[in-house]
Amino acid sequence: MTILTVEASNLTRLYGGREAVSDVSFTLSKGEVLGFLGPNGAGKSTTMKMLTGNLAPSNGSVKICGVDMIENPKEAKALIGYLPETPPLYREFTVDEFLAIAARLHGVSAKHIRAAVQRAKERCGLTEMSKRLIENLSKGYQQRVGIAQAIIHNPMVVILDEPTVGLDPIQIRDIRALIKELGGEHSVILSTHILPEVEMICDHVQIIDKGKLVFNGSIDVLKKQRHGNKLLIGLNNPPSHDELLGLAGVESVEALPNGLLRVRYTAGQMPAEMLAQVAVSKGWGLHQINPDQTSLEDVFVQLTYQDVAA
Ligand code: ADP
Repeated sequence: MTILTVEASNLTRLYGGREAVSDVSFTLSKGEVLGFLGPNGAGKSTTMKMLTGNLAPSNGSVKICGVDMIENPKEAKALIGYLPETPPLYREFTVDEFLAIAARLHGVSAKHIRAAVQRAKERCGLTEMSKRLIENLSKGYQQRVGIAQAIIHNPMVVILDEPTVGLDPIQIRDIRALIKELGGEHSVILSTHILPEVEMICDHVQIIDKGKLVFNGSIDVLKKQRHGNKLLIGLNNPPSHDELLGLAGVESVEALPNGLLRVRYTAGQMPAEMLAQVAVSKGWGLHQINPDQTSLEDVFVQLTYQDVAA
């Protein structure tokens, strides 16, 4: 049975009469990792703040595991772990001291604090850093501490705002692996503007632009949008475009500056095999044929800047 951990209904937030977030609705199930994507100023942080009960919506509601955020904020917030864009770290404490404080703040009972700190450290790879002052840790380890404080009370939902910003590639890889692992036990919402990050860690994607959801679906659906109906073909002795256009299913041919041909074909057909056979029989010197994928960046731009392109 699917357990709904987050239900956001018609969330709207006005700032001075302007809608920063407009009528956003979605649900999240246990074990899902949701990537929340959008350009700067799209409304990601505002949505996150409403989901975590840090900002009241002008309209709409949030339920965490069925508990209404406005009616029962204390109970609903206890089910969430939140890592804001700027981690709330007390830098002059050691990792152990800080996590013990975080556990207390999250309502972990005194007799369970030690075990909670131990578990969070193990999950975030921090055990070796227990006695280190937070201010002396690298940014990657500080981010781990930020994630550890978000999961210290073993919440159902973990919300992470831009968790890999400012980290080096190795730290990014480690934090992404950690987030993916968290997705097994918790529901995770992750805001980011890094597209490959979403492809790597998330199974669900939402794209927000100018306060409105412009895409809400599985990562597979987003990936499918990348597979267009185009082939890239390299021929040593290319025929005329008209000859190619005469082949069944070929709709257009474009010569690219790198010498390759981009062949657009009728949706639903895949003329690669036929093209290869014809190329061989006619001695066109075929040396390359492969699908021409739209980059994820292009899909994103298509979804978020449609009105500019129109
Ligand atoms: P994102 O996190 O996607 O970058 P935000 O949610 O921070 O976007 O911002 C969405 C919009 O709301 C932006 O236009 C931003 O300028 C505006 N905004 C955010 N916070 C405030 C605020 N406290 N007062 C007025 N406008 C705000």
